[in-house]
This record gives sequence, C-alpha cells and structure tokens, in this order.
Amino acid sequence: MHELSICQSMLRIVDATMEKHPGAKLMRIFLEIGKGATIEPVLLKDAFEIVTHDGPYAGTELVIKDIPLVGRCRSCGRSFEYEEIALGCPSCESIDIEIESGLEMNIKELEIDE
Ligand SMILES: [Zn+2]
Repeated sequence: MHELSICQSMLRIVDATMEKHPGAKLMRIFLEIGKGATIEPVLLKDAFEIVTHDGPYAGTELVIKDIPLVGRCRSCGRSFEYEEIALGCPSCESIDIEIESGLEMNIKELEIDE
C-alpha cells in the first residue's frame, strides 16, 4: 500500500509547518488529489489514521478534494476531462494528449488551532 509512504512524506511537510507553531493543535489537513494521481483517498485516510493514531496528530481530520483529470489534445487543441485515462481525444481521436491537471497531490491548507 503506497498510500502509507505518501502519508509519511506528507507528514514531513506538515511537521515542518507545525514547528513554526509550537503548542498549536492541527485540526484539519486540506488535500487536493488528482484523479490521475493513483492515490486512493479512502486508503490514504486509513493510512493517515494508522500513522497518526498515537502521535500529536491523533484526531486530525484529512479533508480530500478530487481534482479532475484534464487533458489537452495536441492535434486539435481541445481540452477535455478524462473519465478514464487511456482514451484518445473525443473530437479527433488523436492519442497525442498532454495532461494539464489531475496527476498531482497538493497540501492546500492546514487548519491550526493556536
Ligand atoms: Zn483532438
């Protein structure tokens, strides 16, 4: 389950931020996960609970927002949202597609109770 290692690298970033707020409690982590990022939100939440259950982030809520997977056709220039990666352009059926968004995972915001 690679969600566990994703979780650990995410927590390293979170740790670095929380060091600047000594004594504060982390309430929520807002995440954006691209649909093409091959991260399963449910598994990530499970991994997060396993990793944090006895540490300073026990009870912190993970709020996950899906980012659509958007591609742009290099042949006809059309942008479109993928339901399933692997399909070509819906207009001209070209498979020369550039992915514009949806492969990334971002930590959007940390909600901290000072
Ligand atoms: Zn096209």
